[in-house]
Amino acid sequence: MASSTGSYNSPCAACKFLRRKCTPGCIFSPYFPPEEPHKFANVHKIFGASNVSKLLNELLPHQREDAVNSLAFEAEARVRDPVYGCVGAISFLQRQVDRLQKELDAANADLIRYAAAATQAPPPPPRHRSAVDYGRGGGGGGGFYNQTPSSFTFPYNYHFPTWNGGGVDGNI
Ligand SMILES: [Zn+2]
Repeated sequence: MASSTGSYNSPCAACKFLRRKCTPGCIFSPYFPPEEPHKFANVHKIFGASNVSKLLNELLPHQREDAVNSLAFEAEARVRDPVYGCVGAISFLQRQVDRLQKELDAANADLIRYAAAATQAPPPPPRHRSAVDYGRGGGGGGGFYNQTPSSFTFPYNYHFPTWNGGGVDGNI
């Protein structure tokens, strides 16, 4: 992140917040640049600066940036949602995965049924719904597929950080 030359003159966000002198060997300065004061404020509020310092010192240097990013993510989630924190996001996504898995299973079962019917009989008349119409909530009784995918209630618009070196964006 911030290079040592760029942050040499101005104290890092942690030292500025804690009103202390930022020394060249400051454990926080590579990960809490002065341009992101809220990042340290959240982490300090939830985990405490001394705990974070202890944790960073126990890690190998190449692990520290990922650790800080995950701490910052957890802290921000906890600040936004004091009850559930990032567990709220995890359980929301878990429910979404479960629901989508059921939708996928149902769509696959439909496909198998249609494929089997197509090999035995002429194509079904057009009054039948095609597989792609499932899940759009269009009336028409008789379907076992009655889920309403837009019924999630998530308390806020969650945004996920860009993990450096992760490459997980867009997979969910
Ligand atoms: Zn510092």
